[in-house]
Amino acid sequence: MLCISKDLLASTWRHLRAEFPGEGVGLWAGCWGLVTQVHPLPNVHPKPHQSYEADPVELLRTLQGLEAAGLELLAIYHSHPTGPARPSPTDTSKAYWRVPYVIFALESSEVRAYRLPEGEEVGIEIRQ
Ligand SMILES: [Zn+2]
Repeated sequence: MLCISKDLLASTWRHLRAEFPGEGVGLWAGCWGLVTQVHPLPNVHPKPHQSYEADPVELLRTLQGLEAAGLELLAIYHSHPTGPARPSPTDTSKAYWRVPYVIFALESSEVRAYRLPEGEEVGIEIRQ
């Protein structure tokens, strides 16, 4: 289970809508499943309208910052500019993190989280 405030969820939506029509990617961090930070990352995939790849330098810098702050990586999020909030075959085949993958579907304004590659859904609790 992931918990996030309405405000941080809204700021994640703002980041991902700003990346449209490309896919956006970033990290949720915090502790004990409660998200306290949203970290947008540049999508450096050569075809950003079809897939995502977080900039490795920014990713590493962000992870080091979390470690220094005593925070955990809680989830990786990305957007589907079109299509459902379900993992694509590419999402599943490239899933090497053990944290949940959160998928934001821009058309339907739906957000869902999954453990990948298993595909098991993870709940998201939205707090005030
Ligand atoms: Zn995807």
